[in-house]
Amino acid sequence: MTPTDSAVIPTAGPLEDAHAQLAAAARHLQVNEGIHEMLARPRREMQVSVPLRRDDGSIAVYEGFRVQHNFSRGPAKGGLRYSTAVDLDEVRALAMWMTWKCALVDVPYGGAKGGIAIEPRDHSASELERVTRRYTSEILPIIGPEVDVPAPDIGTDEHTMAWIMDTYSIAMGHTVPGVVTGKPVSLGGSLGRASATSRGVTHIALLAMAGRDMDPHQTTAAVQGFGKVGRDTARFLAAAGVKVIAVSDVDGAVYSEHGLDITHLSDHADETGSVAGYEHGEAIDPRSILLLDVDVVVPAAVEGVLTADNADKVQARIVVEGANGPTTKDADAILADKGVLVVPDILANAGGVTVSYFEWVQAHQAFQWSETEVNSRLEDKMTKAWHDVVGYASGHGMSYREAATALAVHRVIEAHRLRGLYP
Ligand code: GLU
Repeated sequence: MTPTDSAVIPTAGPLEDAHAQLAAAARHLQVNEGIHEMLARPRREMQVSVPLRRDDGSIAVYEGFRVQHNFSRGPAKGGLRYSTAVDLDEVRALAMWMTWKCALVDVPYGGAKGGIAIEPRDHSASELERVTRRYTSEILPIIGPEVDVPAPDIGTDEHTMAWIMDTYSIAMGHTVPGVVTGKPVSLGGSLGRASATSRGVTHIALLAMAGRDMDPHQTTAAVQGFGKVGRDTARFLAAAGVKVIAVSDVDGAVYSEHGLDITHLSDHADETGSVAGYEHGEAIDPRSILLLDVDVVVPAAVEGVLTADNADKVQARIVVEGANGPTTKDADAILADKGVLVVPDILANAGGVTVSYFEWVQAHQAFQWSETEVNSRLEDKMTKAWHDVVGYASGHGMSYREAATALAVHRVIEAHRLRGLYP
């Protein structure tokens, strides 16, 4: 079977996009077919059923996955997602993107992703704890600090990571902080990890603006998503002088032409669970958030939100991908034709896994770095990756996504070449 076989690649969705990006990089790098096929397939996948005893005594059963795409540069690394949209192909795509992301920011990891097809908002904290512990015990044989290190993603958080760490540690008979990242700071989590993805998105957005001679103080932005990535991105952009005029979440969107007060809006979201109903902004259709007349849009929610159906209506000059896979390959082509700069996910949102790596290093050192040290090392890594991508893109006449993917794929292939094919 070749990497283009339809049995391996679905015809639409994130996995198709991920395969198309890999194929473009493989063509550019003149990768032979065998190596391309190795990279197109995950190294290891586990599908588990996760039974949950609900608070009312009934039993519900959920599907869970852990996909390890690649180990050439080190242990597999990537988040764990709780969402009803989770399926095996989505997890496969997200795992492949983690491999490229880790290679691009040059942290010594391969890529992985996990997920459970569950709506976390429909469950109590104790149900989420039980489902997490059961899932962890099912995937226990394939995770570990030197094997595969989960982290938070959509629908999971530091509590989820604490339960995974505890379940794994009990099975090992001793405490193993390096089995997960994104833990509570009091359990060995890194200072700065919670806002690392947003901090990285902001560094990259500011570099992109500078590259287009845009003054942040004369720039407007809209942010889709007000969760782990979107909320702090809106806050950091506003702190850098950008006028954030609209934000959205799953329940609604708010707009103010004068710029939203993100701290005040955050208080409202904490109190009510959503940005919807915020009194100092106008309610707008959340589907319009990426199409507003702003300079920069930051999709920071889910994949597949910029598509062939709406990409031609994007008015922004720059799209900074805070989410994984928000732009489909058809949308990518449309945006390129319009001259919109798309800063790809594997660069823009790599701050999260970068500080995950710092957390893992701190776990191995049994030592805690200061937040200042974490943030300054993060900025160094993001800035270096930015210049690598921009240099490669201009040297080869490529888009930033093509350049980022080609650089990352090259690094993974180089590790594979040096190690050799066993046996
Ligand atoms: N879930 C985040 C991502 O998609 C972080 C992964 C990690 O820290 O391992 O990049």
